Formats: sequence, C-alpha cells, structure tokens
Amino acid sequence: MENDILIKVEHLSRRYGNTLAVNRLNFEVKRGEVLGFLGPNGAGKSTTMLMLSGNLAPSSGAITINGIDLLEEPKAAKLALGFLPEQPPLYRELTVDEFLDYCARLNRIDKGKIAAAVDQAKQRCGLTAVSKRLINNLSKGYQQRVGIAQAIIHSPDVVILDEPTVGLDPIQIREIRQLIRDIGTEHSVILSTHILPEVQATCDRVQIIHNGELVLSDTIDGLTQRMQSSSLVVALRQPPALAELGAIAGISAVEPLEGGRLRLSHAPQLNPSERVVERAVAEGWGLYELTPERLSLEDVFVNITTTDTAADTTEEAAA
Ligand code: ADP
Repeated sequence: MENDILIKVEHLSRRYGNTLAVNRLNFEVKRGEVLGFLGPNGAGKSTTMLMLSGNLAPSSGAITINGIDLLEEPKAAKLALGFLPEQPPLYRELTVDEFLDYCARLNRIDKGKIAAAVDQAKQRCGLTAVSKRLINNLSKGYQQRVGIAQAIIHSPDVVILDEPTVGLDPIQIREIRQLIRDIGTEHSVILSTHILPEVQATCDRVQIIHNGELVLSDTIDGLTQRMQSSSLVVALRQPPALAELGAIAGISAVEPLEGGRLRLSHAPQLNPSERVVERAVAEGWGLYELTPERLSLEDVFVNITTTDTAADTTEEAAA
C-alpha cells in the first residue's frame, strides 16, 4: 500500500569529487518498520543518512518522505523526520531542559505545546532526572539520549539514527539499543551502523551497503539464515586419520587447526554434528569440544559481494 511507505528512495547517488560515495540506491521504509542500514566504515552510510535527512544534496535521484518530495519541498518533508547525526548537535553549555526547549522551537512546535513535548521526550529517553543538568556534565550515554530526545521531540513519522552507539561503553550500548527498540514501537526508524549484532538486536529488516551500493536487503531472520554456520570445530583426544572424518556423511572438508583442533566444513543446511558425536562415541575418539562456527559480518560481506558481483576481490578491513 502506497501510503504505508514513509520513505522512498530512487536512484540516489552522491559524488564527492571523483569518489562515488553512494551509487544508485533504491529502497523503501514502511510505517512501523525498524530498518538497519549496515555496512563497513566508508561504505556510504553517513552520506545516505545526510541525504535522507535533507542535510546534503544528492548528485542525482529522488527522496520522498511520506509522499512529499524532499528536494522540492524540504520544509514540509522534514516535518516528518527526526535525525540524530553521527556527531550529535548538542549545545553543551545548556541544560537538558533548555536544549530540548530550543529544539522544540526549531521544530516549530506550538508555544503552548512545548512544555508537554519536552516532558514527553525526556520521559521516553529516561532524562527526567537530569532535566536541570548541563549537557556537558552528562555521561556520553546520557548525551546520546539527549541526541535521541531532540530527534523525536516533534513526534516525527521517521527517526534516522546514524551510528548511535559509537563511543559508548557496553552498558550504555545496551541501554541505547533498548531505547531504539522503544522508539521503534511508535516511529519508523532507520538505524545506520557497522555493527551486525546491533542490527540483530534492534531491527526488523536489514540492508547492507558496500562501496556505495546496496548488496543485500533481507529480514533479520533471512540474514540469520545466511549467517548459519557451515563448519564445526572439534577437538578429539584420540583423533582418527583425517580421511576417516572426511568420510562422515555431510562433511565436505577437514582442516587441521592450531592446538590439535579440526575444522569440519559442511553445507549450511546439512549440519553433521549428530553423526560426528555418534561416531566419536562409537570409535572412542574422545570428543571434548564441538563448536559450530558462526559467519562474521565480514564473511557475509565477502559471500554476498563475491557471489553477487563476482570479480572484485579487494580486501577491505571492515572495522
Ligand atoms: P560510512 O558512513 O559508511 O562510514 P561515508 O558516507 O562517511 O561512509 O563515506 C563514504 C565515502 O565517501 C568514503 O569513501 C568517504 O571517504 C567519502 N566521503 C565522505 N564524506 C566526504 C566528504 N565530505 N568529502 C569527500 N569524501 C567524502
């Protein structure tokens, strides 16, 4: 249904000089959806978020927000958007109340409704107790909450969050992810991140961007399936000849690893763990460890980019 589509992006590209940072993206975000925009550093995430939020002009392409063309009617379109950039735009010499009051005015909330909007944003972001504190004196986690509060203060249909957990400690990260899930119950969210578990913990759907291009769009379940293990690491006190292991049904390769462990490769849908355990017991191999190996995000990138675009074998460290 067309009116269920809050963001529609068509052939969106952006160049910086000779660098094609974003290359002909097409995608949609539906009402009520939390979309993970996942990719390694330099993939083009921030450039895309800046364009979606109306802060950077595309080189070409179209962006429609809630049926309104962002490039033709930026003011009207932006009413439906809240944005937390990678560097939160905080005035650190203000208190939380002063800053959110200022943001409410910027977002043209009616004078009579500002106090209620500020209260609600603080409540939703767990900031009520720090209302009178200077932003500069808050922890990074709380500063990030203030950043999220300013993005939702005008109750936008869509909230765009660019790398919202970078630089936070593990407890703060957990809290911010919970907050994102809460926000996702009332707003559509686009969450840009280079951290795969972040997407798995907070999103309904994921899009992977690599060298400026979308290389995957899938549900979280679909992504999890793609990441299913296709190898086991086993440790045996009395290992048999490798060929004997390789002959177990479903095992396609046996590779010795450091410390006497062995990697047994298999097709993703044909996990031979049970057969390995049965044989190990029957033959007295002394099995004391059996671990399915998970594919990392880098492995998934490599799989996707090598199966879908074949030739490019550039090794890029995904930080
Ligand atoms: P990400 O957010 O995924 O890390 P970016 O969108 O920041 O990726 O960057 C995408 C590409 O565009 C990178 O190659 C980056 O070096 C380049 N880039 C980003 N911003 C600028 C800029 N202001 N000027 C020139 N190149 C840029």
